[in-house]
Amino acid sequence: MDTKIIKGKPVADRITENLIEETKKLKELDIVPKLAIVRIGENPDDMSYERGAMNRCAKIGIDVQNIVLQGDVSEGEYIEVIKNLNDDKNINGILCLRPLPKNINENKVKSIIDAKKDVDCFNPINSAKLFEGEKDGYAPCTPEAVMKILNHYEVDLSGKKVVVLGRSLIVGKPVSIMLMGENATVTICHSKTENLAEEAKNADVLVAAIGRAKMVDKSYIKKGATVIDVGINVDESGNLCGDVDTESAIGIAKMITPVPAGVGSVTTSVLAEHVIKACKIQNNIN
Ligand code: NDP
Repeated sequence: MDTKIIKGKPVADRITENLIEETKKLKELDIVPKLAIVRIGENPDDMSYERGAMNRCAKIGIDVQNIVLQGDVSEGEYIEVIKNLNDDKNINGILCLRPLPKNINENKVKSIIDAKKDVDCFNPINSAKLFEGEKDGYAPCTPEAVMKILNHYEVDLSGKKVVVLGRSLIVGKPVSIMLMGENATVTICHSKTENLAEEAKNADVLVAAIGRAKMVDKSYIKKGATVIDVGINVDESGNLCGDVDTESAIGIAKMITPVPAGVGSVTTSVLAEHVIKACKIQNNIN
């Protein structure tokens, strides 16, 4: 079987083009959407995502304010920063880069961010909206990027068996809910799942989000399956790779996303989409 490598760029480009039109219309009303990105310390992963988000926003016409805090910032100071952004009428969306350092209690902080500006689903109010199927909240950007890719490449989900590897709050759980929303029959697997490869091999669509470099090889993949690789890892040679051993999947999967240039490249366009949605809601624009 020929395996099609399904890249994120065409998906991101299409979203970006639509958003450029949206910001043009907002500009006619003298409105420029604005995102605040709050980063603690100099974590290279955070800085790389921040750069990607800034480039995407610049292309679309979204202003960005970067707030960089010292690695030893206290919980109280961090909360103060978030509260100030909540109150700042010029800021439409707030992105808190995570995970936070251990001295800051994430469970305490996540309810502080104004749910209406919470463009990456940090506040449990937005998780609840996702779980209840309400459309006026903000889903986490990465799972939504997975759904955009599946939609763009016209992957049929209705009634299909989808296996999600990983049950984190940021990827596995939300993507499972979204897939169920598209009428897929979803199985969620995790580190305690028995016979993982066997479970995965039932999938018409396999979503891997476990953070284990190239662990998912051809023994996990049904012939003709679509494979979405969310993982971002570094292999033994120091190169970026996914959770899936792409070489091994070639000839078995029907379609597979690459790493890099797959899911990760769509995430920032979803983030931008959320900022514009927030801006429109805050300005009472339909
Ligand atoms: P977490 O570490 O929070 O969660 C990993 C999940 O995978 C857990 O549910 C864990 O199970 C499960 N898991 C770990 N090892 C195994 C194993 N050997 N077998 C089966 N299940 C396992 O990671 P995230 O969800 O935050 O991220 C997952 C991956 O996605 C990472 O590589 C991350 O870098 C990447 N990522 C990519 C993004 C993008 O934009 N493309 C954005 C966010 C993340 P258990 O619950 O039992 O511990």
